[in-house]
Amino acid sequence: MPALRDRPVTYAIQPPAQPSLPIIGEAARFPVRRIYCIGRNYADHAKEIGAQPSSSAQPVFFLKPADAVVPEGGEVPYPQATRELHHEVEMVIALSDGGRDLDAARARDCIFAYGVGLDLTRRDLQAVAKAKGLPWDAAKGFDYSAPVSALRRAAEIGHPARARLSLQVNGETRQRADIAEMIFPAAEILVELSKLFELKPGDLVFTGTPAGVGPLLRGDRFRAELQDVATLEGRIG
Ligand code: MN
Repeated sequence: MPALRDRPVTYAIQPPAQPSLPIIGEAARFPVRRIYCIGRNYADHAKEIGAQPSSSAQPVFFLKPADAVVPEGGEVPYPQATRELHHEVEMVIALSDGGRDLDAARARDCIFAYGVGLDLTRRDLQAVAKAKGLPWDAAKGFDYSAPVSALRRAAEIGHPARARLSLQVNGETRQRADIAEMIFPAAEILVELSKLFELKPGDLVFTGTPAGVGPLLRGDRFRAELQDVATLEGRIG
């Protein structure tokens, strides 16, 4: 119905702002559509939380709302309703293309940029949800739960197969690994995701965290780095 589509849209309330991330070296920003996350993508982290590593049969996926993104870190408010906020440092990929049932080559071509982020987690709420077999939304998808660095274009750096991923809290190294240790590399994550969802431009994907997850307290300063790609600095308010 083109006639209907052409009619200018008016909204009854102010439309929400479009969440977005800066791109290193340019003025244009990356608009965020959805935030997908994979769990248990590093064997040593799966072990530390007492779970089986993700296998090709059953990768674990969950989502955060787009407006949970905190561009470039800065001041991240300590969330309500938890006494156990945890950090999970992760490589983040940003898509400029998408589709369903992608193969690995097409999936890789969808990747526009790379960054580093924190999959902040209310671990106490997650423990209750796991014990009761309930959804993880409240544990994972809360406000300000996705601080992400400025993005580095793949056109500039290529598609990194190995790079050190690390997190310091108050100057002390808490997590350190190489993205080469991921069970599902970036393109394979997209292959699996695209079996469940139609991926689209604007999607962000958190690619899983290595061992060393732990608490963040009010006043803690964090510094996450994906070697030669991006850094993310901030403070828990
Ligand atoms: Mn995670």
